[in-house]
Amino acid sequence: MAENQSNANGSLMTYDEHVPEIKFTKLFINGEFVDSVKGSTFETKDPRNGRVVARVAEGDKEDVDLAVNAARQAFDHGPWPRMPGYQKGRIMSKFADLIEENIDELAALDTIDAGKLFSVGKARDIPRAAMLLRYYAGAADKIHGEVLKMSRELHGYTLREPVGVIGHIIPWNFPTGMFFMKVAPALAAGCTMIMKPAEQTPLSALFCAHLAKKAGAPDGVINVVTGFGPTAGAAISSHMDIDMVSFTASTEVGCKVMQAAATSNLKQVSLELGGKSPLIVFDDADLDTATDLALAGVTYNKGEVCVAGSRVYVQEAIYEDFERKLVAKAEAWPVGDPFDPKVQQGPQVDKKQFEKILSYIEHGKREGATLLTGGERLGTEGYYIQPTIFTNVKEDNVIVRDEIFGPVMSLMKFKTTEEVIKRANDTRYGLAAGILTKNIDLANTVSRSIRAGIIWINCYFAFDNDCPYGGYKMRGFGRDFGLDALHKYLQVKSIVTPIYNSPWL
Ligand code: NAD
Repeated sequence: MAENQSNANGSLMTYDEHVPEIKFTKLFINGEFVDSVKGSTFETKDPRNGRVVARVAEGDKEDVDLAVNAARQAFDHGPWPRMPGYQKGRIMSKFADLIEENIDELAALDTIDAGKLFSVGKARDIPRAAMLLRYYAGAADKIHGEVLKMSRELHGYTLREPVGVIGHIIPWNFPTGMFFMKVAPALAAGCTMIMKPAEQTPLSALFCAHLAKKAGAPDGVINVVTGFGPTAGAAISSHMDIDMVSFTASTEVGCKVMQAAATSNLKQVSLELGGKSPLIVFDDADLDTATDLALAGVTYNKGEVCVAGSRVYVQEAIYEDFERKLVAKAEAWPVGDPFDPKVQQGPQVDKKQFEKILSYIEHGKREGATLLTGGERLGTEGYYIQPTIFTNVKEDNVIVRDEIFGPVMSLMKFKTTEEVIKRANDTRYGLAAGILTKNIDLANTVSRSIRAGIIWINCYFAFDNDCPYGGYKMRGFGRDFGLDALHKYLQVKSIVTPIYNSPWL
């Protein structure tokens, strides 16, 4: 074990002075914090030590019904869908200001709920959530249709109208980030909504609901129902009065959501699912940059990212040097308390995910892969795992095929461009890919040949508000971010009328 990892291991101390007071633990329905109908609650735990942080209201079908009713009333009769875009934009900008005023508290909630790095939350996730709200606030008064050039004596135009009541179901890996990725464009579109955060990470969503009310969002526009997937989540995807469900998380649950949508009211569905993204390193790439990107690609957010670069293909001429440098960097990678500013990797979100990752690592060993480094838990409490790199893997190994969602990389050698394109595409997912080369022709050729929704050339995890994000193949459909996400929450209405001299008149 590397020196700084054993330091982290020895001093997996908790920075409890950062732990905020938990102010909101009830469901947020029609502008009020309320107990669940049954009065049940569930525990949310700190992944640094498994201790209970708070008990949160456990919403079920009856609570979803109440939230949907509130959102339906707000959509059918309330001011939000009818409000001029600039007024919606002002409320959303105020919401963004309030997020910025509460950066520390929101970042700390995500750290104790999800084990995310506090420094990253503070510098990146939470400020970006505010920026995203402002991006869509600016779009709220620029929603328009088109005038149609009809082939007959008709005058026609289109309107873009909000889809209606949206059910958002989100995962635990970016609690605040995902909340705004879903809520911000839906607000700008004029929709009303029910948000169900993951059961592992309910706290920041409730805090954000309180900020939305403070910013002036009318009652019923944003409702938050905390609870479990098979109960509260399933009640959303099968609800007869929800017009669209926007889901992000596992492919398995995405299939269930789609089935429930199809067999209830055929609501619209948007799915952001799993990934097993390739990072392709050609032999002219800078070794230092390439190894930095490869390591960050699989350890960022402890590998709990759907775009994690978990399959790394390195061209044979530089493979040995790459492997040596990468392993050295992985062994020096600081894993530890996510409140510690020197740490780069915190604990996995919960015991279930921690055990799932460790069992994949055991599977990799049993399949005959060579463990170059890592493979063990760190410390005796909390859910810390060493950055783990396997080599001598085969394309059909489970660790190469499945989304592990942890800091586990499969490192592979390739010879030719044709070969690596074929291998990179040999996955049921198609979310992201990275290409590292100084040859722009090669980068462009490979970019067009990879079936994935986002391709990064000489970078990784490079996102921006206007960059649509989503995947090909079993990664799902629909896009988040950018104007594509705004249009997802809008539907087109055509209006047609005869013009002068028309045979209709
Ligand atoms: P999951 O897909 O089971 O749960 C995610 C969300 O869906 C939660 O809000 C959950 O309550 C809800 N849900 C669960 N069952 C549901 C149902 N039947 N109907 C409606 N909603 C339901 O994810 P998980 O179990 O927390 O993680 C499992 C795996 O999913 C991870 O190991 C990882 O591979 C993948 N994952 C992907 C992402 C992503 O960003 N794509 C995020 C988290 C997890």
